[in-house]
Amino acid sequence: MEYIKSKIRDVMDFPTQGIVFKDLTTAFKDPRALHILGWDLSQLYRDKGVTKVVGIESRGFICGSILAFELGAGFVPARKPGKLPAETIKATYAKEYGKDTIEIHKDAIMEDDIVVLHDDVLATGGTMAAAYELVKSMNPKKIYINFIIELGALNGRKALPEDVQVDSLIVY
Ligand code: AMP
Repeated sequence: MEYIKSKIRDVMDFPTQGIVFKDLTTAFKDPRALHILGWDLSQLYRDKGVTKVVGIESRGFICGSILAFELGAGFVPARKPGKLPAETIKATYAKEYGKDTIEIHKDAIMEDDIVVLHDDVLATGGTMAAAYELVKSMNPKKIYINFIIELGALNGRKALPEDVQVDSLIVY
């Protein structure tokens, strides 16, 4: 994990004043860091029978896809409004910097699915809480949640349901 940490870049005041942005592009472009990320995430769920990984736009698509591939699961994108072509369900939520809406295809998750929700960073938890509610409304058998980075000081876990397993590879 120290290797991955060494590849994460802190960008000050992005996208707005006062935010320290955890830039993972510097880890994603490093072959060894990307390999470790995919492997470590997949180790969390080897015996869990996962059938779908939901990645949150857009940085959640990167390791979400790798995780799905590693687990032999399908990949489902949770996207910003107006991007998905077929019928969707949506939720609006508050973020660390502003408001946003997230959408998922109505037929993306089935009742016999075991689902992992993935995003790169847990900040206030608003994004993931909204994605969780969308997926939960589709009644899958089980939902897991993970992040590459958790910003502990922002207490994002409080926004997530207590009875769901939440894993983060790195906590700051
Ligand atoms: P939140 O809903 O507050 O948990 O915000 C999480 C979403 O915003 C994730 O999709 C992150 O990619 C992004 N995000 C929020 N804060 C940061 C940050 N300080 N550094 C990097 N990404 C962030």
